[in-house]
Amino acid sequence: MPSKDKILSLIQEEGVDFLRLQFTDILGTVKNVSIPAHQAAKAFEDGIYFDGSSIEGFVRIQESDMRLNPDPDTFAILPWRSRREDSTVSARLICDVINTTTGEPFKGDPRYVLKRAIARAKDMGYDMNAGPEPEFFVFEKDEKGRATTETHDHGGYFDLGPKDLAQEIRAEIIYMLESMGFEVEASHHEVAPGQHEIDFKYADALTTADNIATFRSVVRAVAELHGVHATFMPKPISGINGSGMHTHISLFGDDGNAFHEEEDEFGLSETAYQFLAGVLEHAPAITAICNPTVNSYKRLVPGYEAPIYVAWSDVNRSALVRKPAARGPNASRIELRSPDPSCNPYLALAVMLHAGLDGIEKELECPGPVRENIYDFTEEDRIERGIETLPGTLGQAIKALNEDEVILDALGPHIASKFTEAKTHEYTEFLASVSQWELDQYLETF
Ligand code: GLN
Ligand code: MG
Ligand code: MG
Ligand code: MG
Repeated sequence: MPSKDKILSLIQEEGVDFLRLQFTDILGTVKNVSIPAHQAAKAFEDGIYFDGSSIEGFVRIQESDMRLNPDPDTFAILPWRSRREDSTVSARLICDVINTTTGEPFKGDPRYVLKRAIARAKDMGYDMNAGPEPEFFVFEKDEKGRATTETHDHGGYFDLGPKDLAQEIRAEIIYMLESMGFEVEASHHEVAPGQHEIDFKYADALTTADNIATFRSVVRAVAELHGVHATFMPKPISGINGSGMHTHISLFGDDGNAFHEEEDEFGLSETAYQFLAGVLEHAPAITAICNPTVNSYKRLVPGYEAPIYVAWSDVNRSALVRKPAARGPNASRIELRSPDPSCNPYLALAVMLHAGLDGIEKELECPGPVRENIYDFTEEDRIERGIETLPGTLGQAIKALNEDEVILDALGPHIASKFTEAKTHEYTEFLASVSQWELDQYLETF
């Protein structure tokens, strides 16, 4: 854990010119304010003040002064900045946002919402570990430098070069991530043309959320350096797979992995089943957070390895939760397959954790696994087996969120209302917009 003094000397040694103080808005967009590196000591001492009124979902004009407190654990030099010749050296620090009136953490800071979830888990004797599998597309740009939907290659699942044209790009992403302290576990070409996945090692929930935010910046920056565009939009092209961000979850207690039970058929403990039951119970509401865009729901359709039914399985990938084959004191975990990489990682991990903890607290009973391909189920099959569906649109997801007190509490009233407001606006605008599909269907027909 780097102390403030250690960081101050690193700034000297590495010749850092600027510090980017970062935080995330409610929608998951990374924001930053840059300060000259000689202000670092002051930033650690007093924080840095900024006007929060212009940040999406933050505060009203009359109470707009906010303070950023840099978290020394998150110091990292931004490698893609220094790759450019004669460019300045920048480092980033992820910050907590403080309400200057009360001196307390700002209730609208997603990082604080996650810290609250982590504290609840801690009170119950657990630490959450999370390992994400973010997927993304790489697209060509047009003459004007704007992103197109022409995929950068035509490779498929686990393809090698020359079909996989992005090996260089992925390699550079991985080197940069490693220079920032990531432990990358695997990377591969995904199922769809131009689609890739890079998996980094699981960590505690806060580190993982910070890592996801950093990961998205690195991927986009490296693509930019290669003259292509990387996107975490969940479903940029209909008819082929979209991009998910499967998230592996486990809880650790004093005796190690609280999800592991050697004797169990699936290697899962009672605690794991209760957690899983909580995730299933709150699945409709957490969808609003884990799948927060209009486009997210174009991914959650049958036939593309994305879940639509609220069930778990040890064998098939059409279920919402999968029990990976790996088992053992270090490996027993569950994989939530609904999240997509457009989510706010702090809020997403917070609601997943609260949902599971609620299951443990209420000792919810977990249904058995579903072994069939659920995409093939008829409506009667589903109803008979009590399998619910995930919300089919952003509008339905917001409704489900607003009917779930546990998840609303997880977000706190500030974020719950700002999030609902922003997303209702987004969905209403979408409903009123005229799409290319409609023009193709109706323009010449009527
Ligand atoms: N892209 C798929 C999804 O949307 C996942 C594919 C895979 O990782 N096997 O979730
Ligand atoms: Mg994977
Ligand atoms: Mg994948
Ligand atoms: Mg997976």
